[in-house]
Amino acid sequence: MNTDAVKLLQGRYCNSLTEYSRFVTREVTIGDVPMGGSNPIRIQSMTTTDTMDTIGTVEQSIRMINAGCEYVRITAPSIKEAQNLAEIKKQLRQRGYTAPLVADIHFTPNAAEVAARIVEKVRVNPGNYADKKKFDQIDYTDLEYQAELERIYQKFSPLVKICKEYGTAMRIGTNHGSLSDRIMSRYGDTPQGMVESAMEFMRMCETLNYYNLVISMKSSNPQVMVQAYRLLVETMVAEGMNYPLHLGVTEAGDGEDGRIKSAVGIGTLLEDGLGDTVRVSLTEEPEAEAPVAIALVERYTSRSEKLKVENQKLNNVVEEAQSSINPQHNPYEYKKRDTYEANAFIGGHMVPRVVIDLSKSNLKDPAMLNDAGYMYSPLLDKYNMAEQSVDFVYLANQLPSFTFPANLKQLYNYSTWQKLANKVNCHPVFSLKEYIDADDRSSALNLVRIKPADIDSEDFGLLPLNNTLVFVLETDALNGMSDQRSFFFKMEDLELNVPVIIKRDYLFESESLEVGKSESENLVTYNSQLTTNLQLFSATDLGALLVDGFGDGIWIDAPQLPANIITSTAFGILQATRSRISKTEYISCPSCGRTLFDLMETTQMIRSRTSHLKGLKIGIMGCIVNGPGEMADADYGYVGSGPGKVTLYRGKEAVKKNISSVNALDELIGIITEDGNWIEIE
Ligand code: SF4
Repeated sequence: MNTDAVKLLQGRYCNSLTEYSRFVTREVTIGDVPMGGSNPIRIQSMTTTDTMDTIGTVEQSIRMINAGCEYVRITAPSIKEAQNLAEIKKQLRQRGYTAPLVADIHFTPNAAEVAARIVEKVRVNPGNYADKKKFDQIDYTDLEYQAELERIYQKFSPLVKICKEYGTAMRIGTNHGSLSDRIMSRYGDTPQGMVESAMEFMRMCETLNYYNLVISMKSSNPQVMVQAYRLLVETMVAEGMNYPLHLGVTEAGDGEDGRIKSAVGIGTLLEDGLGDTVRVSLTEEPEAEAPVAIALVERYTSRSEKLKVENQKLNNVVEEAQSSINPQHNPYEYKKRDTYEANAFIGGHMVPRVVIDLSKSNLKDPAMLNDAGYMYSPLLDKYNMAEQSVDFVYLANQLPSFTFPANLKQLYNYSTWQKLANKVNCHPVFSLKEYIDADDRSSALNLVRIKPADIDSEDFGLLPLNNTLVFVLETDALNGMSDQRSFFFKMEDLELNVPVIIKRDYLFESESLEVGKSESENLVTYNSQLTTNLQLFSATDLGALLVDGFGDGIWIDAPQLPANIITSTAFGILQATRSRISKTEYISCPSCGRTLFDLMETTQMIRSRTSHLKGLKIGIMGCIVNGPGEMADADYGYVGSGPGKVTLYRGKEAVKKNISSVNALDELIGIITEDGNWIEIE
């Protein structure tokens, strides 16, 4: 797409870049649970059982529905599984479960045509429905390309006609990892290629007057995924379409990584007002996914109404300020905002810095810095830095009684900083007014706390600007991310290149006791819920800005949670947005009925031996469906290729095919070692 076209389209993929507003899509019928329009954002997930295991699939579906899934997706790799969907559906209905079922199809149009007569929705992957993927680069002429589309139409139109006849919905689900050779040859491995891959199928559906469509643009890289969905909406609007969006990050992994990665991708788009259904893909039991999706979505339930009340309280100041914004920002490409380097430490080309508040910790105990990634050895009276060591600790007005590691900067409130005898590595934090009035600022680094609306204030114009200044951008608004984003737009308009640390505070509601559980069980559940909410909310709020290239540092404040959780959440967000790499990345699929090994066990096994390989990306796929494509984003891949068999990849190249799973991990380590990427654990 040329630059002029991008400029024309900017900001048109959503209703507003600076205030939450849900993008209204067309309502689609899926059994008796419609999607899109003014319907709630639906929750869904996918079974991991063998589809021929009827009872296992029924039982798992019930657990998923009870956990909050409104649709249940089941894989149908061939006709026999597609046929068995009838039995699964019958048993579910007999047991009183009416959630619509979705058949997941890759490669097999004949299975799709059977399934479309049975279930309420089919998912097809345009990358492999009638196309192939052998990583061939083919130069098509326009005529040849058109002939290929005609061939696909012949293969695809029977399914569309069946869906029309049976009232079955369809998801056209593009996957970054499985774009066809045809699309890759013309558009490359790009968000535009992903969009075009789906648009071709959508246009064919419209030619056949079939409109019961849902669209998705998944990738394991949240940045690519966000750009693809935005570009999809833009393209749909330009062609007069507004189909509902199914949001998801593929192969997000498990635990903290999986939750943070999912929230960066899905949460960013929800903030944009996009999304009609959410599936969080975790390498965990499928019933663990729905609560995560629900927590992500619930933040937007009635947000528009709540915002109206908030804006009225502020006498519409927010609304007026926001309507004047005309961003020069390209939401389809990552570009870090230009800032200067302050004190050769923050801003410019530096990785985003991490700040945590340790002012309430025991400042008499050097071991308290373990939570910040500085491991104290009492024997040697020395610190060892972990991979995730924070850059600044905020101590407010508290003074530690021990010496800090040399590379850890301390932040103090201005009045306390003034009184410090030794100011080496210690920097002041000012209010806006304090900074303007101060007569003894630091010659190295001055942090100024600021709220988004301050940029329109008279005081802002009085700010003495020099390369020691760094903003700490805070907000307590419901619309906090958009509020902070509008601040960045205004900074761009004013051509101000001051580095900005994005700060968000989280205070969660107090514990509600669950009947039938002991006090300690309730506490465990509560703490784990707090941790999950912190991961999801902060990854959404901060991740949404980082994927747009905003932010030179992040600061998460959550007084109810231990500092080590905050530290690891902050580094997890930076890793998921690929703005600062501090650990190995596992691109592991959630598993499904096609899976050829135990995903959870295998991921844990691979992690246990490779988690020290900082920066390496390892793909772990239960089957080849998304395999080679996703391998292009991973450095190495471990992919199920048959019962007890694994194929190992270096990038997208299969280097060891169908080897026994018994020694596949050793073989993988051998390849990593051959490449000079192996490091022995000290
Ligand atoms: S990659 Fe994983 S989730 Fe995807 S189809 Fe294969 S086994 Fe299923």
